[in-house]
Amino acid sequence: MTKLAQGLLNWFENHGRKNLPWQSSPPNVYHIWVSEVMLQQTQVITVIDYFNRFIKAFPDIKALANAKEDEVMAAWAGLGYYSRALNLHKAAKIIASKYGGMFPKSFEEVVSLPGIGPSTAGAILSLGSNIKATILDGNVKRVLSRYHRVEGHYSKGPVIKELWKLAALHTPSTKNAHYTQAIMDLGATICTPKNPDCESCPISSHCLACLNNEQEIFPHKRSTKLSKPERNTAFLIFKNEKQEIFLKKRPSQGIWGGLWSFEECQDKDSIISQKIKQHNTNATIQMKLEKFKHGFTHYDLWISPVLIDSPGGSGNYYKKASLSKGVPAPVKKIIHSLE
Ligand code: SF4
Repeated sequence: MTKLAQGLLNWFENHGRKNLPWQSSPPNVYHIWVSEVMLQQTQVITVIDYFNRFIKAFPDIKALANAKEDEVMAAWAGLGYYSRALNLHKAAKIIASKYGGMFPKSFEEVVSLPGIGPSTAGAILSLGSNIKATILDGNVKRVLSRYHRVEGHYSKGPVIKELWKLAALHTPSTKNAHYTQAIMDLGATICTPKNPDCESCPISSHCLACLNNEQEIFPHKRSTKLSKPERNTAFLIFKNEKQEIFLKKRPSQGIWGGLWSFEECQDKDSIISQKIKQHNTNATIQMKLEKFKHGFTHYDLWISPVLIDSPGGSGNYYKKASLSKGVPAPVKKIIHSLE
C-alpha cells in the first residue's frame, strides 16, 4: 500500500465523513449512484435535502424506472444541470430492462450507462458494491496534482492520463471504499482549492507541493500567454550571534531539488511567527528585507526575505563565506546582500 493510501486510511478512521444520508452498512448501491450523480456539480451540503426528497419519491431503481419523466424532473427541480436527472431516469430504465433491476457490477457495464463517466463509475463500484475501483473526480485531481507536482492543466490529455495512472497507483486493494471516501473527503475539507490546511493534512510529509510551499501553483491553471501565475513565499533567514546563517537541504524533487535554502513558509505574519518559534523560541525578527521577484518557466515567485536574530541557534548554521555553492540563485543573492 502506498504511503498516501495508508495515511488517508488512518485519517479516515477519525476524520472521514461516515454519516451522510447515502452511507449505510451494507451500502445501498442505488443510494450511492443517486448521490454521486447529484454530487457531480453540487456540494454535499446542498445535495443532502435533494437526495432525501428524491429517495422518498423513488425508493429504488424499479420505482425510478417506472416513474414519469415529469415526476423525476419535479423531484430534481432546483438542483440544476437537468440532464443529470434525465440520464438517471434513462439509466434506471436500462437497468430494469437489461439487468433485471440489479445495478451492474462490471466497470464496462456501469460506465456505458447514461450520465456515468469513468470516475463516477469507479465511485459507485467502490462505495456501492465494495469492488476495487479507481476514482478521479475534481477533488482527487487536485490532491494528486499537489502531492506529485503534476505539471500542466487538466484540459491536456497527457495530464489526465498521468493523473489516472497515479490514481490507480494509490488505489488500495483492501479497504477500497474507505480510501475512496477518504480521498474525496480530504479534497473537500482539507486540500481545498484555496488555502489548503496542510497543517492538518495526513499526507503532508510526502506532499511535494507542500514540501516546496507550492500549494498555490498546483494544480496548474490554464496557461494564458498574457501573464504567468504568481506565487508568494517568505524566506526566513536565521542568523545566530556568531553571524552564521541557517540553511536546510530542500526535498530532492521540486524546485531547487537537493539544494540548500533558508527556512521557507507562506508569506503571512501569523505563519511566519509560528515558524520562527518552531525553529527557536528565543528568535525575533530583526527586519524585513525588500520583496523581489524570481521568474520560473511556469510562474513568478515573489520572495519576502525576513532577517531573524536567532540567539543560540546551532545545527545547520554556516559561515557566510562557505555558502556560495549548492544554493539557488535567489538564496545566493540574499546571502551576498547581507552585511
Ligand atoms: S499537504 Fe496540503 S497541498 Fe498537500 S495534499 Fe495535503 S492539504 Fe493538499
